[in-house]
Amino acid sequence: MPLPLGHAAAGLAIYELYPAAKPKIEWWKLWLFVGILANLPDIDFIIGLVYGGNGNIFHRGITHSLLFALFAGLFAFLAGRKWPRIFPPLGFIRCTILVLSHTILDVIFSESGTSLFYPFELFHSAGYSTLWDIARMTMTESYRDAGIIIASAAVIISVKAVERIRLAKREKPAPAGPRP
Ligand SMILES: [Zn+2]
Repeated sequence: MPLPLGHAAAGLAIYELYPAAKPKIEWWKLWLFVGILANLPDIDFIIGLVYGGNGNIFHRGITHSLLFALFAGLFAFLAGRKWPRIFPPLGFIRCTILVLSHTILDVIFSESGTSLFYPFELFHSAGYSTLWDIARMTMTESYRDAGIIIASAAVIISVKAVERIRLAKREKPAPAGPRP
């Protein structure tokens, strides 16, 4: 399964690819917001830890669904409208896609079930996981997401390169015509 860095990298690539105006906001706020949205479904891990000391109790359940992505996307969109200096105003569809990117990656790269179409299906991770387990995995096993991170970096670099070329073409002065 992809770990937080892999999800964040994929989220940033999706953000760059999304064909809409980019808000003028500090880059770190934007990266942080996108990273949080792209990892938001794993909040079920924290809920499980708080509820029963086991991060797997609710993991891959309701928060890993299309329904959750829609609600979280709406919430993030409204937060961006109300407090644009804190939450980048990214729009409802872009926020929803960022949250959904997490679940899609989990569906593709995980062997265990994911509740994408909740309430028509509901899975929960088996076993026992503590905060230490996830911290250790993030620190020592993020290399497994190298493919996702490299592919995402390639997308981001390509989009930025195309943007620069377009900008340079736009700023190029028109050839001088014959003087009257
Ligand atoms: Zn997940």
